[in-house]
Amino acid sequence: MMNILFLLLVIMEPLCLFVIKRGSAADTIRPSQFLREGDTLVSNGGKFEMGFFSPGKSSSNVYLGIWFKPIPVRTVVWVANRDKPIQNPPGALTINGSGSLLLLCQNHGVVWSSSSPEQDGVNPVAQLLDTGNLVVRDERNSESNSSYLWQSFDYIGDTFLPGMKLGADLKTGQVWRMSSWKSPDDPSPGDLSYGMEPTSYAEALMRKDSAKFFRSGPWNGVRFSGGPELRPNPLIGFQFVANSEELYSTDQLKNESVITMYRLNDTTGTGDRYIWFEAEQTWKTYLSNPTDNCDTYGLCGAYGICVISESPVCQCVKGFVPKSPRKWSTMDWSEGCARSQALKCGEGEGFAKFNGLKLPDTAHTWLDNSMNLEECRAKCLANCSCVAYANSDIRGSGGGCVMWFGDLVDMRQTSIDDQPLYIRMPISELVAEEKHSQRKKVVLVCVVVVAAITWALIPYSGVVVIGFYLHLRKSNKNSEGNARGNLGNDCTNEMQERDMELPSFDSESIAYATDNFSIHKKLGEGGFGPVYKGTLLDGREIAVKRLSLCSGQGLNELKNEVTLIAKLQHRNLVKLLGCCVEGDERILIYEYMHNKSLDFFIFDQTKGQLLEWSKRFHIILGISRGLLYLHQDSRLRIIHRDLKASNVLLDNEMNAKISDFGLARCFGNNQTVANTTRVIGTYGYMAPEYAVDGLFSIKSDVFSFGVLLLEIVSGKKNRGFYHPSHNLNLTGHAWRLWEEGRPMELIIDTPYGDSYYVPQMLRCIHVGLLCVQQQPDDRPNMSSVILMLSSESTLPRPKRPGFFVDRNLVEEVNSSNKFISNSTNEITITVLEAR
Ligand code: AMP
Repeated sequence: MMNILFLLLVIMEPLCLFVIKRGSAADTIRPSQFLREGDTLVSNGGKFEMGFFSPGKSSSNVYLGIWFKPIPVRTVVWVANRDKPIQNPPGALTINGSGSLLLLCQNHGVVWSSSSPEQDGVNPVAQLLDTGNLVVRDERNSESNSSYLWQSFDYIGDTFLPGMKLGADLKTGQVWRMSSWKSPDDPSPGDLSYGMEPTSYAEALMRKDSAKFFRSGPWNGVRFSGGPELRPNPLIGFQFVANSEELYSTDQLKNESVITMYRLNDTTGTGDRYIWFEAEQTWKTYLSNPTDNCDTYGLCGAYGICVISESPVCQCVKGFVPKSPRKWSTMDWSEGCARSQALKCGEGEGFAKFNGLKLPDTAHTWLDNSMNLEECRAKCLANCSCVAYANSDIRGSGGGCVMWFGDLVDMRQTSIDDQPLYIRMPISELVAEEKHSQRKKVVLVCVVVVAAITWALIPYSGVVVIGFYLHLRKSNKNSEGNARGNLGNDCTNEMQERDMELPSFDSESIAYATDNFSIHKKLGEGGFGPVYKGTLLDGREIAVKRLSLCSGQGLNELKNEVTLIAKLQHRNLVKLLGCCVEGDERILIYEYMHNKSLDFFIFDQTKGQLLEWSKRFHIILGISRGLLYLHQDSRLRIIHRDLKASNVLLDNEMNAKISDFGLARCFGNNQTVANTTRVIGTYGYMAPEYAVDGLFSIKSDVFSFGVLLLEIVSGKKNRGFYHPSHNLNLTGHAWRLWEEGRPMELIIDTPYGDSYYVPQMLRCIHVGLLCVQQQPDDRPNMSSVILMLSSESTLPRPKRPGFFVDRNLVEEVNSSNKFISNSTNEITITVLEAR
């Protein structure tokens, strides 16, 4: 029969009687008319076009599709024969008398047909509308009458257009669900699909194959709970309909001139909202789902909350602890969290309120939109299986009731705070919470009283008291936020008191990662113990610093390093990933730096050749930026006190990262200098005022930086520098050469090959000499150093360096100075220098 139709088509072609005219702008097809390859239908307002096309690189497969007409980049939004390409063109589309669309192919008859039930007594016409919807209607009905016999919007592909519905017609069983293309060349359904889940509290869910992949969260009357960005906006309006007949969400364009679509992309595994930018003639992504890692379905397991601003991102709900602390510490959160105190379903149990959460998976929920929050609470409390409740509709003063049964899965912190979740808690947890809020109330009352009294005595002084209180509250709030996550019990309480925010690793997983601290995994040894390379179960490479018991770094230094570095984030500072304190074992875990430390390169003739000048300069700038951050840009002012070549690590791109904060000290905002009787650091890098008088400041760090700078340029060590004709150390030698007008002799023997850039080298030597000047006040600060290094401005003449004389200085200072510590540990730290 179909071949006969084809025959008819071919026979009639020369007559052009019933074939849509090539290039014509018709928007309809009537029975016995044919749309052939090369012909197109164009919607009335010219917004969409329908015709035959071959996607991507495939030229042999032909499909019938609809695309945006005004856009030069062919963007197909709907395909009729998604998994049945026409391989033996020509193909043609027609409509029969009972309203079925038929896609015909010469050898195979009907390749595709619209699945509408055959209708008698109608005058069917297929029409492409300006919405991108291809509809079949009775010609006697107007095109705006939505009682269509069939419409392409019921069969969504990878593209969701304004006016489409995502959900289901509960009466007919018609499901409106998107599915990605298999690839840009193949429009047949791929792995990703997106639709409404018909749970009691319905939500949109993206699946990869059949597994849950991303949840928008349920609709709460205003927005989807997990998609703050999907709030009403000037471009698109959202509508959600849930009644006994239909359940769907839909979009409407608020500005008709905007061209936009939401599309599933199998390659990137995302759903992306695109907007066409006319001026740039390109599509731009407006938002993508999943937005970030925290949108990955169930990333943190049951009762885990994903907080994207935290590292690691997963935390347990307050009152819960990781089910498997070992896995949790290796960032495998799949097992989630369990209650630290079991529920007994008895007297005193209640609910804790959680704000700013994407509500958990609604697969096991119960909904009653007529209840209020109080009734909801009572109903949930009375049912021992109910684990949480919330208002289901937040419009107006909020109402409705949704209750959760089973584990709470897939929660994340969001920026909106309008639909609190109430999670069932045992009495002990609620008492602790109550005490905490009581304490806060008492403090508030005290503050008000003190403020009132001081105000009476000294007008306006009360403002200061309140200001101080608010400041304290802010810092408390931060730590409360962190307390949401239970990071395991391995870090000592003392550390937690110091606002520890680091994950703890258990000693087993560290032993596993380092082959039981195998000698083969040893990277080096610093003043505090050996450092090993390790590989965590998830494949991440780490450096493990195992503090030896007899090392100088006792618990104090460890705590110092941990608390300081944990608060610092800069690309030129090495990142501390966690710690492990178990029994006598004290371990710090860092990101692994592939190129170890700078001293391995610069003091070695062979490896030094790998560091041509531009790399050295890049490293110098990196160190100076890291140090500037410590001194000035971080929220704390930190004096490193032990800057040296072996404390600068290099990543795989030879970026410098300052490490080893065991001796670092934190200064208050207005503090510029401090004094210690425990002078510890490394000879050769220590500023004179520190070594002699125990005075340290940012300028003592600048001194160490200057020494390091001269070492990097010259490839020679300051301490241990040898010259046949004098007893000067490297800084003294550099100054002498500078004074004698031959500074470039400093780099004789340095393995630079041809990679010279003399003006930059001279500038570095000059800046180095300015940094090592005897008087701290003469030395520049790090922001001036960076400016001087990266500009061509005139620099001041350097004065005599401190400690420029001879290599026996160490012993002299040691025997004459009361400040140098004689404790075995500190001497060990002090003199430990090169590896
Ligand atoms: P430290 O105790 O920090 O002075 O480290 C001793 C040595 O271990 C360093 O000089 C490096 O060679 C090596 N090392 C320390 N931390 C790391 C790291 N994060 N990545 C690679 N190697 C490291």
